[in-house]
Amino acid sequence: MSLSIMERIAGGTVLGAEGYVFELERRGYVKAGPFVPEVVLDFPDAVAELHREFLRAGAEVMVALTYYAHREKLRDVGREGDLEAMNRQAVRIARQVAREGNGDNALVAGNVCNTWAYDPDDPASKQTVRDSYAEQLGWAVEEGIDFVISETNDYLGEALIAVEVIGSLGLPAMVTLAPTQPDRTRDGYEYAEACRILEAEGAQIVGLNCDRGPATMLPLITGIREAVDCAVAIQPVPYRTDAAAPTMQALRSAAGERAFPIALEPFGCTRFELASFALQARELGVDYVGICCGAGPHHVRAMAEALGREVPAGKYSPSMELHPMFRSDISAKDAAFLHTWSA
Ligand SMILES: [Zn+2]
Repeated sequence: MSLSIMERIAGGTVLGAEGYVFELERRGYVKAGPFVPEVVLDFPDAVAELHREFLRAGAEVMVALTYYAHREKLRDVGREGDLEAMNRQAVRIARQVAREGNGDNALVAGNVCNTWAYDPDDPASKQTVRDSYAEQLGWAVEEGIDFVISETNDYLGEALIAVEVIGSLGLPAMVTLAPTQPDRTRDGYEYAEACRILEAEGAQIVGLNCDRGPATMLPLITGIREAVDCAVAIQPVPYRTDAAAPTMQALRSAAGERAFPIALEPFGCTRFELASFALQARELGVDYVGICCGAGPHHVRAMAEALGREVPAGKYSPSMELHPMFRSDISAKDAAFLHTWSA
């Protein structure tokens, strides 16, 4: 019997892991641009494998890959007819891998996100979003989820629709905002104020995900931690954003070209930077620490180990003392060889 998400949070920091769309795009299973998770139906084993890699690295939550698996997006790629099958299958795959956890199974999170259909000035768009979330999550509940993550929300108004739909299903809601702007949502609420409202409307976990790297997301989470009493979540992208380019969308190559979304590699964080981030987030009182677009299992394992976890993939964690050149009892011949690497 697994502990619920709120029981786990009561017991300490929960480690999450996302970034499925970016990683499966790199592996050749998702088309960059539309970023619709057709892979769920076309290559289910690829999705299961990535879930498994995150699980082995220490992730405690398997997030169903239904990001962008909603009616508007599927219409863009001509797969509207696959909507229900894609949503159901995504939960089934997450559930199957969650059960492979060692003794204490991982949790399964249903997932809804920014729809691009929401317009704060168009009341009809609210119903479109509500219907979209209700049908996606209705299927997810039937397949078996433990809670719901509503993420990458640009608008507080859209996030509140998610809170309402998730609440009507009787499930805990983790709702995170996409901090693409300096200090407030697209509909004009400061991030901390928006999170306070989300809490008041029934979200159990609030916070930020995507767009910003650890360096530019952590300062924003401090204000959120102070503003709310409920649990707080943070899931940055593993990219080196800074004051000049606070989001991954703002990062530019040396030639001035936009790096987002498929030329971000030069800005990638090392596993050590993510390990340090996980510790800083815990120190700030964040309850759910994860990672978003760009994440790899090596980041997640480093975060897990920094948080003091022993994880299955730890069997293969680095042992540089066994490297032929970096070992302490290096021979004179190899010391000369090593010297040429540094010359
Ligand atoms: Zn993301």
